[in-house]
Amino acid sequence: AAEEGFDVEDVEGAIEAAGHGPLPVLAVVGRPNVGKSTLVNRIIGRREAVVEDKPGVTRDRVTYEAEWAGRRFKVVDTGGWEQDVLGIDASVAAQAEYAIEAADAVVFVVDAKVGATDTDEAVVRLLRKAGKPVVLCANKVDGPSGEADAAYLWSLGLGEPHPVSALHGRGTGDMLDAVLEALPEAPAQTFGTAVGGPRRIALIGRPNVGKSSLLNKVAGEERVVVNELAGTTRDPVDELIELGGVTWKFVDTAGIRKRVHLQQGADYYASLRTAAAVEKAEVAVILIDACENISVQDQRIVTMAVEAGRAVVLAFNKWDTLDEERRYYLEREIETELGQVAWAPRVNVSARTGRHMEKLVPAIETALDGWETRVPTGRLNAFLGELVSAHPHPVRGGKQPRILFGTQAGTKPPRFVLFASGFIEAGYRRFIERRLREEFGFEGTPIHISVRVRE
Ligand code: GDP
Ligand code: GDP
Repeated sequence: AAEEGFDVEDVEGAIEAAGHGPLPVLAVVGRPNVGKSTLVNRIIGRREAVVEDKPGVTRDRVTYEAEWAGRRFKVVDTGGWEQDVLGIDASVAAQAEYAIEAADAVVFVVDAKVGATDTDEAVVRLLRKAGKPVVLCANKVDGPSGEADAAYLWSLGLGEPHPVSALHGRGTGDMLDAVLEALPEAPAQTFGTAVGGPRRIALIGRPNVGKSSLLNKVAGEERVVVNELAGTTRDPVDELIELGGVTWKFVDTAGIRKRVHLQQGADYYASLRTAAAVEKAEVAVILIDACENISVQDQRIVTMAVEAGRAVVLAFNKWDTLDEERRYYLEREIETELGQVAWAPRVNVSARTGRHMEKLVPAIETALDGWETRVPTGRLNAFLGELVSAHPHPVRGGKQPRILFGTQAGTKPPRFVLFASGFIEAGYRRFIERRLREEFGFEGTPIHISVRVRE
């Protein structure tokens, strides 16, 4: 490495940074208007439009990547929607429940100016039950005079209230230090007790694509549609189902059952649920209604799974309803609308008739194999060497940037670091990804490639 102009520390640092694997998840919960979205913006250090969000408007995303003191984690924002027909307590509880379930630690935001309300107390009970580490954020403490208000929140029994002004940034550094202490280095879902346990599948897709029907079909039993107040009873969220002689864990199946009372904010609620399920899973089976046009909502769900770095299987459901013409157009649509997951295994199923149910497990196994593939450094560099001499990077400004060497820094999903003598253009990066896929498979998995340029 030293001969190529990189020193050993550079190389090791780059490999470590690229190979981080799944990030721990922090959920930010609390009543509407306590300042959750403002705080999330502050944490992620960006002015995203989340605060302006209107209820009922589909949110693109609820999960963001953040970094503090050199550690990276994900933040789940539960702000941006309002109480629905259930009333304030139940809707706050329902959103908090999903977020807490997916999280490794929780920031509970309370408006220090208002003090603890009954709704806050209800969330405290949920937090106690979940047993996840909690950092109590006493928000809207914009100056020293507000500190006394924050101290009142000791009464919640969640330990030290951290006085914060999400709006101005006051106290957020100290609070984030506490968050880092509460957050495990790696998500418990992935590296904790679950190691060696059943593989975790998130069955996701927009409403009415047939998720509960499919689950019923594969589980071989008719399920009850749960018709209850969200958050009042905890129904099982993960379900063990045997398929193809192997036990799989379908995560967050409670979310698949219909919460019939939830109407307003249902879109937002659905994205939160999807994000939570994806966080907990290793592989996302994305169900798409084959008889309808592929929609922006389908694409968003695909993006969520890809950005979370999960293995992906595409299942086109309701195949029993398709005629010749629709099949023709569907193929075209898949090419144009789902290009970002052209590498995902595909199954065409019918939850109604049971068509091709037996193809689901092999597809899932293929995707998980790709997700866990590790290419030995020697093989990778032999491949890169050949590729670079056969297809050199275009000359730019009289210079020809070259890939000097590379290594796979991590798996689940595969992450590569390439070391180069100059800036590598996006087109060439895509070319390398394509060739890596052709050479080593990686079916069903996103792959990350980062490039380090020699100074
Ligand atoms: P959410 O519903 O919990 O996500 O709350 P928002 O982040 O949308 O904030 C609700 C309102 O409180 C907005 O008008 C914010 O500007 C305001 N707000 C948020 N944080 C602070 C703060 O630290 N101090 C003050 N004074 N206002 C804040
Ligand atoms: P979910 O909202 O994604 O859980 O969707 P459901 O499982 O509730 O299904 C929505 C509707 O699609 C119901 O009326 C189902 O009977 C219907 N459905 C689900 N799968 C199929 C299928 O494979 N073929 C047909 N024709 N209808 C289906």
